[in-house]
Amino acid sequence: MPLARPRPAPPAPSASASAGATEAVAAVRAQALTKVHGRGETAVTALDGVDVCVTRGSFTAVMGPSGSGKSTLLNCLAGLDDATSGRVWVGPQEVTGLSEKALTRLRRDRIGFVFQSFNLLPVLTAGENMLLPMVLAGRRPDEAWRAEVVERLGLGDRLGHRPAELSGGQQQRVAVARALLPRPDVVLADEPTGNLDSRTGAQVLSLLRSAARETGQSVVMVTHDPAAAAYADRVVLLADGRLAGEVADPTPDSVLAALAALGG
Ligand code: ADP
Ligand code: MG
Repeated sequence: MPLARPRPAPPAPSASASAGATEAVAAVRAQALTKVHGRGETAVTALDGVDVCVTRGSFTAVMGPSGSGKSTLLNCLAGLDDATSGRVWVGPQEVTGLSEKALTRLRRDRIGFVFQSFNLLPVLTAGENMLLPMVLAGRRPDEAWRAEVVERLGLGDRLGHRPAELSGGQQQRVAVARALLPRPDVVLADEPTGNLDSRTGAQVLSLLRSAARETGQSVVMVTHDPAAAAYADRVVLLADGRLAGEVADPTPDSVLAALAALGG
């Protein structure tokens, strides 16, 4: 099924950003990104000098052993977590160093985030949860797009239910819908199929892939599942907080082989 309508072209990169951004078309970019959680004896280096560039309209999967820094990378790209050093851009906008207020606006206007733990509000229905970011931004959803997302995620008969009345998989799909409805430039999803069976997982993955291919959004997805990663255009491998390889045009087999080569 075709997506409702192509989104308008994003604004051209501003001159102020071009100084640091060698790749003007990057939708998200990290340069020498390092993140140390905690301090002193208990400090943990979750990211150790990561360079990554996600082009507009691409679908990138991030894989690696548990604890390799995947969630930290996504959180730093979204400005949900502060980098210890290094820089991050979303489009032409440098994220590192932004005020809390500017970060909130950037996340609201440009980024859709699917949390591993869903983060749905318990008092709102599924339908209300989905629309909340748009309501907060004072925007109205494109009705055709809303209907398409709801249908493709199989949520039509669950819109009036509260999260406690939904299965984990249904809650996860509501969280995916919430991230996609505003049509953000960048969708960052942390294990968005982790609670789904293969059929509903495929629904989510094909929707993420169409968001990238048909509407030019850029999708970065953390996953443990080689079959899920094979929906992406590229897989980036992390190990111990560092880039440990990359697989272009991944298939489940080529991803498995790359993971095996990591020794994880
Ligand atoms: P992944 O998502 O690949 O499993 P994470 O990014 O969650 O990895 O974690 C990377 C490392 O950072 C792990 O060693 C983890 O224990 C540590 N870590 C993550 N978040 C925190 C935190 N808030 N405080 C302290 N350590 C953390
Ligand atoms: Mg994680």
